[in-house]
Amino acid sequence: MGLFDIGSMSSDVKEYYDFVIIGGGPAGLTAAIYARRAGLTALVVEKALEGGAVTQTHMVENWPGEKSIEGQALGQKFADHAKHFGAEIHYAFAQKVTIDGDYKVVELDDGHSVRCKVLIVATGTQPRKLGVPGETEFRGKGITYCAACDGYLFKDKDVVVIGGGDSACDESHFLAKVVNSITMVQNLPYLTAAKILQERILNDPKITVITNHVVKEIRGTSKVEEVVIIDNTTKEEKVIKTDGVFIYVGLSPMTEVVKGLVEMNQNGYVITNENMETNVPGIYAVGDIRIKGLRQIVTAAADGAIAAEHAARKYF
Ligand SMILES: Cc1cc2nc3c(=O)[nH]c(=O)nc-3n(C[C@H](O)[C@H](O)[C@H](O)COP(=O)(O)OP(=O)(O)OC[C@H]3O[C@@H](n4cnc5c(N)ncnc54)[C@H](O)[C@@H]3O)c2cc1C
Repeated sequence: MGLFDIGSMSSDVKEYYDFVIIGGGPAGLTAAIYARRAGLTALVVEKALEGGAVTQTHMVENWPGEKSIEGQALGQKFADHAKHFGAEIHYAFAQKVTIDGDYKVVELDDGHSVRCKVLIVATGTQPRKLGVPGETEFRGKGITYCAACDGYLFKDKDVVVIGGGDSACDESHFLAKVVNSITMVQNLPYLTAAKILQERILNDPKITVITNHVVKEIRGTSKVEEVVIIDNTTKEEKVIKTDGVFIYVGLSPMTEVVKGLVEMNQNGYVITNENMETNVPGIYAVGDIRIKGLRQIVTAAADGAIAAEHAARKYF
């Protein structure tokens, strides 16, 4: 394949690539762009949607050069850009990584086994569970973790959003255009989102914010009907009638594929140096899965660029 050939949704996975990148979000796709522009072969393995977590948000307003763009469209732009430079994207779940001398071997759940010199792990995070009774039982029956995906199912309904950070506020702002009312429940005495996001929430007549309360239980019969919350100060219980519950209480890293292989902290976030190198030569970790101060699209893309550029110089 020529350097600037249009890439493909590969079903013909080769046995060897210079770079294998696990995860097709902004970090992995940026790494693929830099690897291809360095003249190296690159396979991106993606288990779900190309574009990664970006595709789960309705609107992105902090990616430089785009004042406002739908998350889905931005994620697609990242993937199209990587494919334009000849990166291959293969849909599979990467389940195991082993070391064979100077090479890494990635086993996929579709039976393929791919060797590479450089492995870039860019597997991102998944929504953290609230861990209350009813959460598992009513998942998909009124409980969701994605307003952009499921918001329209709750058109003109009353919903509860749990959380008070950037995602909770941003997604509530989006949901307010669709639903009848939103009650936000935050465990801390204040919201923790960026000020611009807080202002939108506090100025929206459809949104009521309840701070300093924790969720005790989510109840219903065949689907969600009410959320039981407790006042942290008075310990008084309240019941909120609702048609749906959107949960935004943080994230946990999807680092299972390299567990036991690379160093991580107690929460499963990968430890890297400033070049995104893990403790294993030739394995890099980029984006939301590594220990860092700011988990955003722009920092994920930066990680991918740094890792690919460093690896291209060091190993080829
Ligand atoms: C609701 C929401 C709103 C957000 N809004 C913004 C915003 O407005 N601005 C902003 O800058 N950031 C925002 N973010 C954060 C931003 O999306 C992330 O920081 C960014 O996507 C991280 O990129 P990443 O490439 O590290 O991981 P991800 O984007 O999470 O991509 C990781 C990819 O790896 C895949 N994967 C995982 N494990 C495997 C495996 N074993 N095999 C194969 N594939 C695998 C996943 O399917 C996923 O596609 C938002 C996040 C959420 C959830």
